[in-house]
Amino acid sequence: MASGNPFFDEMRIKPEVIDRPQNEAMMDVTENVTDPAQHILKPNVAASSSVRELLECPVCLNAMYPPIHQCLNGHTLCSGCKPRVHNRCPTCRHELGNIRCLALEKVAASLELPCKFQNFGCMGIYPYYNKLKHESQCAHRPYNCPYAGSECTVVGDIPYLVAHLKDDHKVDMHNGSTFNHRYVKTNPHEVENATWMLTVLSCFGKYFCLHFEAFQLGMAPVYIAFLRFMGDDNEAKNYNYSLEVGGNGRKMIWQGVPRSIRDSHRKVRDSFDGLIIQRNMALFFSGGDRKELKLRVSGRIWKEQ
Ligand SMILES: [Zn+2]
Ligand SMILES: [Zn+2]
Ligand SMILES: [Zn+2]
Ligand SMILES: [Zn+2]
Repeated sequence: MASGNPFFDEMRIKPEVIDRPQNEAMMDVTENVTDPAQHILKPNVAASSSVRELLECPVCLNAMYPPIHQCLNGHTLCSGCKPRVHNRCPTCRHELGNIRCLALEKVAASLELPCKFQNFGCMGIYPYYNKLKHESQCAHRPYNCPYAGSECTVVGDIPYLVAHLKDDHKVDMHNGSTFNHRYVKTNPHEVENATWMLTVLSCFGKYFCLHFEAFQLGMAPVYIAFLRFMGDDNEAKNYNYSLEVGGNGRKMIWQGVPRSIRDSHRKVRDSFDGLIIQRNMALFFSGGDRKELKLRVSGRIWKEQ
């Protein structure tokens, strides 16, 4: 009963729609999920908006950084756009020449501006020339949607993305630090690259993404299961998880550290940072006639003390 959801990865060679994992007997204790803190926005800093407008390149509309250029009439232009305008000022069409606008560069240096992720809760105010660097590492910068299986362009903070995963991707939600899922696929030999429906696990007041994918490791078809943490890497390191899969008296156990969703699911998969099961072994674990994949993956998340 394959559902019609396009949750496979269309970029891969042989995408295949796979049933969502089946949630088996849950033995876990439900934990309280703290409500996401409401961000209180600080009013804009009194950096005159007209000065900020002056620092906007008239061509690309980006903020200008040194060297800032100007034409003989004083119209300014960023250094990225200058080579593209064929020595003509885009504002007055006169010859551009090679004049640097030191005064504006100095005005910029005296400016202090709020981080552009203020709406996501960053209260930082930064000197103009340090702002870009901060924003590239800002802890409040939004995350990409962690959904694996389609290119989703939604970004947001964690509470927003959890709601988005639930409402728009219809992912499976699971409360508690232990879990037990079945991954089923008929005719697994026909599937070389596939992504099963993501499960979002909620415990310790945090969210984790449980991934299960089929891919080719060299020439060998394999499955991988791994966990990603919905948050930054420094916090992800506070957690450990284990995954267990087996059958017919055999068992494989993986213990790992969840990766941050700042790392794409593909990056995690391609670094083999998870429980990797050869297809032969997976079919052996599935029992029966090797025509059907029927894996039971159980696991646990715990916090490092
Ligand atoms: Zn420009
Ligand atoms: Zn001009
Ligand atoms: Zn910031
Ligand atoms: Zn999404």
